[in-house]
Parts: sequence; C-alpha cells; structure tokens
Amino acid sequence: THLLGRIDANQSLGAFLVVDRDQALTQARAADARRTAGQSLGTLDGVPLAHKDIFVSTDFTSTAASKILVGQSGGYRSPFDATVVAKLKAAGTVCVGKLNCDEFAMGGANENSAFGAVHNPWDTTRIPGGSSGGSATAVAARLLPAATGTDTGGSVRQPAALTGVTGIKPTYGRCSRYGMIAFASSLDQAGPIARSAEDCALLLQAMSGYDERDSTSAEQPVPDFAAALRTPRAGATESRPLEGLRVGVPREFFGTGVAADVDAAVKAALAQYEQLGATLVDVSLPRTELSIPVYYIIAPAEASSNLSRFDGVRYGHRAKDAEDLLELYRKSRSEGFGAEVKRRIMIGTYVLSHGYYDAYYLQAQKLRRMIADDFQAAFEHCDLIAGPVAPTVARAIGSQTDPVAEYLADIFTLPASLAGLPGMSVPAGFGGAGMQNAEKGSPSGLPVGLQLIGNYWQEAQLLHAAHAFQ
Ligand code: GLN
Repeated sequence: THLLGRIDANQSLGAFLVVDRDQALTQARAADARRTAGQSLGTLDGVPLAHKDIFVSTDFTSTAASKILVGQSGGYRSPFDATVVAKLKAAGTVCVGKLNCDEFAMGGANENSAFGAVHNPWDTTRIPGGSSGGSATAVAARLLPAATGTDTGGSVRQPAALTGVTGIKPTYGRCSRYGMIAFASSLDQAGPIARSAEDCALLLQAMSGYDERDSTSAEQPVPDFAAALRTPRAGATESRPLEGLRVGVPREFFGTGVAADVDAAVKAALAQYEQLGATLVDVSLPRTELSIPVYYIIAPAEASSNLSRFDGVRYGHRAKDAEDLLELYRKSRSEGFGAEVKRRIMIGTYVLSHGYYDAYYLQAQKLRRMIADDFQAAFEHCDLIAGPVAPTVARAIGSQTDPVAEYLADIFTLPASLAGLPGMSVPAGFGGAGMQNAEKGSPSGLPVGLQLIGNYWQEAQLLHAAHAFQ
C-alpha cells in the first residue's frame, strides 16, 4: 500500500504505463499468508516489482510503448507469460504493473515512447536514459525496489547510470528471450534494475536459466549469485576485499568525448577500486568507435525483420478504410509506428537489400567478430573491464533532435552488447557540477555510472566487484 501510494503521487514522472492495484494487493496478501504459514517461496517472495513493457504477460496488456500494439480493445493481451515474467512470478514477486520505455526499446532517452517521455527523478526536466527509462525511474524514485529491463545496446546500463541505480545485463543467452518483444534478436537480453548489486544478484538468479523455447538460450549452469557476492576472494582482507583483482581500463573509454565531470567521477571510482585492493591495468579496445556504425547496421537490420509481423492484421492497430491488403499494411504501419522505429525499419531494409548487403551488413558482421576478439585480447591482461557507462550526465528532455548525435552517446555500452558480454552499471558519484538542484534534495548534481564488463558467464564476478565497491 505504501508503494502504491508513492506510485500514485509520482504519476507525473511517467514511469508506469499500467498499474493494477487490486491485483498487486491480492498477490501481496497471498505472499503474506505464505509467510505466516511457513511456506515462503524464498528471498523474493512478496517483493513488489514491475516489468518493462517489452515483456509480455497474461496479467497485463503489452504495448512495447507503441501505438501499433494498441487496437480498438486496448493494448495487446498475450496468451502466455514471458519466461522472465513466469520465473519471477514463481519466485513469489508481486507484479504491480508495466513500465514505460522507448518504443520497441529503440532509444536512449525514453523520449520515443508513444505514451510520453519519462522524467528523471533527480531533475524532472531531464531524461532518465533509455530505453528502460521507466524501470530506472521507478527504482530511483523509490516507487519500487526492483524492476526488469531489457538491454540491446545499453538499455539497462545507461538508464541505471543516469538515475543513480544499479543494473546488470547478463551474458547473451543467460536469460530467455521468450516473450520479450523482439528488437534485435542477436543482441536483446533481459536484466534487472535495483538499488544494489545484492538485489540485482537475487533478481538475476531468478531470471536466469536455460529455456527450450529460446533457441539462443544457453545451457549454462546458473551459479548462486547472491552467495558469490558474499564469498571472499582468495587473499582478500577486510580492508582489501578485491586484493588481486585486475581491473582493465580501456584507454578508448577516456579522453575526448567524455565530459569532464563524468571522467572525474569514474576516475575517482577507479581510485577507490585500487584502495579496495584491485590493480588497474591499461588495456585497449581499439575498435570502440566502430561499434556505433556496426550496431546501427545490425540492430536496425534485425529490427526491420522482427517488426514485419506488425502488419495491421495479427496484432493491435488496424487502419480503417484500406482499399486492399497492401494499403492496409502501409496505412496501419504508417499510423502505428513512431518516427524512430520507422527510421530503423528503413535503415534495416536498406542495409539488407540486394546490392548493399555485402557493403553494409556483411561488413558489420565481420567487424562485430573483431570487436569480440578485442575483448578477449584485453581479458588476457585483466579479470574485468571498467569505464564510464555514458559520456555525459542526463541531458534535458527535448534537447537532442539529431538522431545520429543521439546514437553516438551509446559508444561505451555498444561494445559489450556486440560481443555478448555481461555489463553492469554501478553508481559512481555525481557530475553536473554547478547545477542548481540543491532544492530538489540531490547531494550535488546528477548521477554518474561506472560500467563493469566481464568475460562470458562471469556475472558473479561483476556482482562481487560491484558489491565490494558499494
Ligand atoms: N540506445 C540504443 C538504441 O537506441 C540501445 C537500445 C537498447 O538497448 N534497447 O538502440
């Protein structure tokens, strides 16, 4: 009831697309009853959360923040739960509603939602990041202790960073994509957003695991992440819990292109890692800059294919007065999709078309492999990699109208996505010095995130290193 009150009072943040009060209270009471009867389902039993509206569920409508999924009878209602939703339900969590995001998770500011922007709780004139902006805002504003997100090119890590909360995108294949409305299938991964690495560990534990309904889900054992976080490293002492940990600092993640305040906060976090016993190692990810053109070819290519199913016939919005089938497709899609989604469908269709495929798509695939190889070369010298999540703190809503400039801000999150590596965002301090937001109660400025990138299946190590820092 307390959280439902907070959600009500903070509607202007735009974090939620739907809230079901009665359903949440019923589920919470059931969890209480289980506890009283000594039949609790575990640590997450009774924990309230909400899902990014990219996950389908039987209890709520699903929109992917797009008008195309909203027909005459409202949003699309799935006949099944996404695997991640089902797993969290089985763990006893109480689902309060669905969270706003960028349309089909395309964006980094949550300004591309068909249902309005989400506001950053630290300064409501600013973006919360995206595309999981509703999830990050709900956690940062203390409307929920946890939320799910999805990360294709940074959509868990970047909003977590810009709102000062913790988020992890696991290794590609760790969480099932079944029931996640597809954007770019070779990149899409689910991930939790919460207040701490410890909470993320508990959530990720419940969300992970092989699923035969997702052909790219990995048959990889799921370690006990929460236990790993508390297990001391060999050689660790109380004051130096990270003794012996080699943290790679890619030189391409610093210097020009990173705002001075972000650079300073991330470097201060790295200095703290040294104090905790870690050794900083200079490493290189030479193709960092190329990750932008590579991603913005591959992701739209896959999106153009995935989004072809929204044709006005099977789901949601159907245009009126179409003369024939082609016109029905054209009209429904023109009316249903927003500008950024259309832009990506056009780019994707172009790079996949005959005559351009070799020049763009195939070339991008080759570079993607080289970007992954660069990481393996770096991991010869370090256990994990650290750097900024985003080049700047949260910008003002409406202040970026150039889509290409917006894409450039993804530079530090795209490499791990293309390589399929796990990445995490941990609050590292504050930037935006000189901002006059003291009256809003923020200590000094806007949150900055530290990104930790691990090798394949090394989520436990990331969570451990984040926990020691927190
Ligand atoms: N900002 C990136 C994009 O617009 C990443 C989005 C995501 O991870 N879903 O594609």
